[in-house]
Amino acid sequence: MAQTATVTDSSVVKVCATCGRFRRYDPADQYCVVCGYDTLAAECRCRRTLEYALDEPEGGGLHCPRCGRDWRSPEASG
Ligand SMILES: [Zn+2]
Ligand SMILES: [Zn+2]
Repeated sequence: MAQTATVTDSSVVKVCATCGRFRRYDPADQYCVVCGYDTLAAECRCRRTLEYALDEPEGGGLHCPRCGRDWRSPEASG
């Protein structure tokens, strides 16, 4: 009845732990569109969601505002 098929708003922001790229993905997506690794995470290690990251330009620094994780150099900070 009320099945108005609107544009899917169930997408989530995920980050690739390998290359540090943030993108909006389908919840079922597993592979990074940039590097192809299946290292996507829908939330930080502190459980914070990643919506904030889409507002940040690529190329600069990007840290989790809650736990301070440095997403731009995933190898450097653990
Ligand atoms: Zn990647
Ligand atoms: Zn965090």
